[in-house]
Amino acid sequence: MKTRMKMREQAANERIKNFNEVALGYNEEEAVEEAARCLQCKTAPCKHGCPAQVLIPEFILKIKEKDFAKAYEILKEKNNLPAVCGRVCPQETQCEEKCVLGKKGEPIAIGRLERFAADYGIKNKLDKAEKTGNGKKVAVVGGGPAGITCAADLAKLGHEVHLFEALHKPGGVMIYGIPEFRLPKSIVGYEIDSIEKLGVKIYPNALFGKDRNLKDLKEQGFDALFIGSGAGLPRYMNLEGEELNSCYSANEFLTRINLLKAYEFPRFKTPVYTGKKTIVVGGGNVAMDAARCAKRLGAEVAVIYRRTEKEMPARVEEVHHAKEEGIEFNFLCNPVKYIGDENGYVKKAVIEKMKLGEPDKSGRRRPVATGEFFEIEADSVVVAIGNKPNPLIPQSISELKTTDWGTIEVGEDFMTSVEGIFAGGDITTGAATVIEAIGAGKQAASSIDEFLKNGKSL
Ligand code: FAD
Ligand code: SF4
Repeated sequence: MKTRMKMREQAANERIKNFNEVALGYNEEEAVEEAARCLQCKTAPCKHGCPAQVLIPEFILKIKEKDFAKAYEILKEKNNLPAVCGRVCPQETQCEEKCVLGKKGEPIAIGRLERFAADYGIKNKLDKAEKTGNGKKVAVVGGGPAGITCAADLAKLGHEVHLFEALHKPGGVMIYGIPEFRLPKSIVGYEIDSIEKLGVKIYPNALFGKDRNLKDLKEQGFDALFIGSGAGLPRYMNLEGEELNSCYSANEFLTRINLLKAYEFPRFKTPVYTGKKTIVVGGGNVAMDAARCAKRLGAEVAVIYRRTEKEMPARVEEVHHAKEEGIEFNFLCNPVKYIGDENGYVKKAVIEKMKLGEPDKSGRRRPVATGEFFEIEADSVVVAIGNKPNPLIPQSISELKTTDWGTIEVGEDFMTSVEGIFAGGDITTGAATVIEAIGAGKQAASSIDEFLKNGKSL
C-alpha cells in the first residue's frame, strides 16, 4: 500500500523568524498522486466524520482526474470555507479518522487535498457573483465561520442577508485568533469576499446588544435572526499577579498580533511586549498558537501545562511544530502566582508541581496539586486556559434561555427559546472547531429557510 504524500513545510530554523505559512501545500503532481490512493468507497465513511457532510470521495475523484475546477465546485457545494478548513480542521479526529485506509496504514490526506482544490479555485478566481433577492430579510450576528456559513447559505436560497460584526473585520477567530503562519489572512479574506459576491451585506463595527437590538431589527423588517457570536470571553485563573502589565489573556495577545497586525512589524507598530522569556499557560491549540507567535516575536517560550503530553487537547501536529520550533514544555505544572518588578511587569512565576489522579468527566486524568513549588523567571505570561461566551447578547434579549455555562440553548433545528431567533457555533456549544461552527451555520440556514417558507417571522 502506498504511503500518504508528504507536504512540504518551511524549515523550523527559518520559520521562527517569520510569520509566513508553515505548511506549503501540495503541487498538482502531489495532489493527483495522493488522490489516486482513494478507494472511492461506496459507503464513504469519511463523509460521516465531517460535520459539513463535504462530498469527499467525489471531490477527490475529480482531483485524480485532474479536473480541479470541478473538485472546487463540489467542495463549495457543502462548505463555503474550504481553503480555511483544508488548513485548520482537525481532520485526524474527523473525516480522516473514519477513512478505511487508516485501519492498516495511513488515511487519505483529505485536508491537504481540500486545501489544494480550494487554493486552485482561489488562484483561478472560480467564484462567480450570484444575484440574490426576492426572499425574506434575515439578520446574522457575528462574522465567524457559523455566521458566515449561515449568511452564505441563506443568500444562496434567495434571502436578503445582513451580517453584523462587532470588530472592524469579519472572520471571527479565523482572523483575530488563528495566526498568519497557520491560516493566511488573504485566504480568509478571499473566502469572505466570495460570500459578499452572493449578495450578503456585511456591516463591521456593529456591536449587537449595544448599538442595535432586537427591537431595531423588527422595526427594520427583519424576518429572522441568526446569532453566531462565538465564545470570545477569556477565562482567567484569578491568580495574584494576573493584573500585571505583561500578563495577557491569549485573546488579547493573539488579537494584537493578528487583527491589529503586530506580526507585520515594523509596518504596523502595535505594541505587544514579550520581553526575553514568555510563559504560556495551557495545553490546547490556543496555547500552541500563542507560544509559536511569542517565539516569532523573538522570545524564549515555555509552555506550562497541568497534565501530561498525553492529555493535551492541542492537535498533535501543532505540538510537533511547536517542539520543532524550540518551544519548551513543562508538564504536570501549574502557576499559582506571578511576581512583578518595580514597573508593574511580570518578573517571575511561582509554579506548583502536579501529579495525575483519577479520570474526570472528560475521561482525562485529573491533575492533583503536590504542594511542591518552584519559580521560573519570565518577562511575560499568556493565559490560554479557555474561553466562554460573552453575555452581552443574552442580556440584550432576556427571553433567550441560556445554560449554566452561558451558552445559548437551541433545539435540533437550531431555534432558540425565542421564535424566529436561531443560534449556532461556539455560542451554543462553547469553544469547539471551525467545521462544527460551519456545520451548525448550514443546518441553521436550512431551518431558517423552512421557518420563513412557512410564512413565519420574528
Ligand atoms: P467566532 O469565530 O468566535 O466568531 C464570532 C464572531 O462574532 C466574532 O467575529 C465576534 O467579534 C462576533 N461577535 C461577538 N459578539 C458580537 C456582538 N454582540 N455583535 C456583533 N458581533 C459579535 N478550530 C479549528 O477547527 N481548528 C483550529 O486550528 C483552531 N484554532 C484555534 C485557535 C485559536 C487561537 C482559537 C481562539 C480558536 C481556534 N479554533 C480552531 C476554534 C474555532 O476557531 C472556533 O470554534 C470557531 O471560530 C467558532 O466559530 P463561531 O462562528 O461560532 O465564532
Ligand atoms: Fe477515500 Fe478514505 Fe473516503 Fe474511502 S474512506 S472514500 S478511501 S477518503
